[in-house]
Amino acid sequence: MRHNFGAGPCILPQEVFKQASSAVLDFKDGLSILEISHRSPEFEAVVEETVRLVKELLNVPSGYSVLLLQGGASLQFSMVPMNLLPEGKSAAYLDSGVWASKAIKEVKYFGKANVVASSKDSNYTFIPKDFEIPADSAYFHYTSNNTIYGTELFDLPATKVPVVCDMSSDIMSRVIDVSKYDLIYAGAQKNIGPAGLTVVIVKDEILGKTDRAIPSMLDYKSHVDGGSMYNTPPVFSIYTAMLNLRWLKSKGGIAEIEKENIAKAKALYTEIDRNSLFKGTCAVEDRSRMNICFVMEDPELEKPFAKYADENGFEGLKGHRSVGGFRASMYNALPITSVHALIDLMQSFEEKYK
Ligand code: PMP
Repeated sequence: MRHNFGAGPCILPQEVFKQASSAVLDFKDGLSILEISHRSPEFEAVVEETVRLVKELLNVPSGYSVLLLQGGASLQFSMVPMNLLPEGKSAAYLDSGVWASKAIKEVKYFGKANVVASSKDSNYTFIPKDFEIPADSAYFHYTSNNTIYGTELFDLPATKVPVVCDMSSDIMSRVIDVSKYDLIYAGAQKNIGPAGLTVVIVKDEILGKTDRAIPSMLDYKSHVDGGSMYNTPPVFSIYTAMLNLRWLKSKGGIAEIEKENIAKAKALYTEIDRNSLFKGTCAVEDRSRMNICFVMEDPELEKPFAKYADENGFEGLKGHRSVGGFRASMYNALPITSVHALIDLMQSFEEKYK
């Protein structure tokens, strides 16, 4: 089997694939998960368990709703200002990567985005630190993990304004305090489950305050009131996410997986720093645990290493075109044995080429 370091959609546990595929053939009394009604008691139980698992794993306090939506994290770039930004007001945004800048781009349809800091001029190789969030901002938006550049913001910046976070690529990878956030969103296709599902965790009291007419499908309240069943939900993605969250719970939950994620990232960064052929691409203090970006000291060796990795069973290591080089995405389901295999590969390549 190949070691899958893909950035997303990405590796999920093998047992989840097995369970999901058996439900395609027989979910209940010979009926496939793909053909049952989303209003059936069996599927309502799936939605209920999925929401319960999200709340339990992330320790979501009361007063928050967990929504299972569609449209990807990208639709949240618009839904957030549409639902939270009153006419004529501005919201503070941290520009720490392409996804953050795409979120910023959507705000203009609803109000003003005030970019409090940006690392764009340095090709987003670090996360800006010293910035002020104006107290009259409708909210502050940031991306906790910059999937393309391999930077991660572990500590929530201090602010009294409501906080909105795009956690698409590090949700469920480490313990967070949900009570510090007003809205969290994440495309599911990294640590939650397959593509097609977007999870939103929203503090109920922040909704309904913009005085803007919002189309029903884009109004969080429709989905809160409809229990994520306002319309037909992405049945199979939700089911598979539920299986994956069960797996995470059986592993001991987020606190346990966080320990593994720390160990995996430490092992690979140690090798990148030690190995004479490779170097990391971003500020050491901002290094992500989920997406580890590195290049060759000698760019001429990039192609040979890519070929060597491919021949030895490694998948998804190519860096994003805006960074180049390599990116090892190490989501929850990637076993530490795959990380050790990559380290061995880098060492044997060093032996050949140093
Ligand atoms: N935000 C982040 C941090 C991402 O990594 C991605 C996709 N990789 C997105 C947003 C966009 O997500 P989607 O494709 O689900 O719209």
